[in-house]
Amino acid sequence: MKDSNSHRPGFATRAIHDGQHPDPLTGAVNVPIYLSSTYAQEEIGKHKGYEYSRVSNPTRDALETNLASLEGGTSAHVFSSGMAAIMAMITMLRSGDHVLCGENVYGGTPRLFNQIVTRYGIEFSYVDTSDPENVRRAIRPATKLVHIETPTNPIMTLSDIRAIANVCHEHGVELAVDNTFMSPYFQRPIEFGADIVMHSTTKFLNGHSDGLGGVLIGTRPEHKENFAFVQKCTGGILSPFECWLVLRGVKTLAVRMRQHDSSGRRIAEYLAGHSKVKKVYYPGLPLHPQYELAKRQMCGFGALISFETGSLENANAMLRHVKVCTLGESLGGVETLISHPATMTHAAIGAEARAKLGITDGLVRISVGIEDVDDLLADLDQALAQI
Ligand SMILES: *Cc1c(COP(=O)(O)O)cnc(C)c1O
Repeated sequence: MKDSNSHRPGFATRAIHDGQHPDPLTGAVNVPIYLSSTYAQEEIGKHKGYEYSRVSNPTRDALETNLASLEGGTSAHVFSSGMAAIMAMITMLRSGDHVLCGENVYGGTPRLFNQIVTRYGIEFSYVDTSDPENVRRAIRPATKLVHIETPTNPIMTLSDIRAIANVCHEHGVELAVDNTFMSPYFQRPIEFGADIVMHSTTKFLNGHSDGLGGVLIGTRPEHKENFAFVQKCTGGILSPFECWLVLRGVKTLAVRMRQHDSSGRRIAEYLAGHSKVKKVYYPGLPLHPQYELAKRQMCGFGALISFETGSLENANAMLRHVKVCTLGESLGGVETLISHPATMTHAAIGAEARAKLGITDGLVRISVGIEDVDDLLADLDQALAQI
């Protein structure tokens, strides 16, 4: 396992201090929420670096500086949701370009690509990126971007970021990684060669299920220039208040992730030993087929676990009875959320696509929160007893 604190200053220190200095005017230790659309100018062309808040805002700047530091990128730009961030990334492409995408990424991603972006002459194809050779074979002369997610939802299949980055760079293609599931605390794709990292900040970065947001972290001057230009031109920016919520969330990211991970491991082990549970998908279990890769590219295994109950009836029998866990979509908050992918997050893709990905009607997914783990174990135990 890599030590996530092997950098100077460490991750938790940067999470609390980078981009967030005491306010020079008042000494306030928190970055103020700058609720101002415009900024007074002294004379023509003379201002303090801010003119209009679609273009830039001090609260947003603080968050963007912070997130660039945590992912080890050179720039970060935040948008009103994860989907808005992905759309901003796609504006780098032109008609005739091709994008290669993992076949099991967040459902909203192929919906955006296939149902909207293809209208503009950009082509998409999908492969199983758990084998980097599939990526090599599917790259075309027109390919400009490879977009992957690791681990995938809900089957927790990993993709080897370093191997895929190498394939991409041999072909002059950029690699984007949706790092929402791991957060930069447990996985930093740029260290393995990724060019762009994307997050739905709605999940672990915010961490409290009280705001939506998205971010693109770049590594080249063109990323910084392009994503800032998209913010200015299309306006899908994150509001100052929501920027502040993410800044507040990120300050506790390190301690939250440590707890998510320790409870996640306990619950995965408990489920793996339960007689009613037929299979557990969690990269931190030695029986996970990519356990070695997980240890190599992640420094923790996180909070997301899926398990097989055997049937829709079994899944519903337990889901009806959870008390501490909340039945609902989304993930990454302090509260434990439990969901049924076949009828919730993956309903729209259809039975055939679900079967191909291994998403059965009996599959249940948990995003383990940071409640007392003994209460979570007791809750799951009484709910599973209903099967
Ligand atoms: C939620 C999510 C998204 C979309 O983000 P929104 O903030 O809901 O727009 C993208 N990717 C992953 C992995 C997600 O979990």
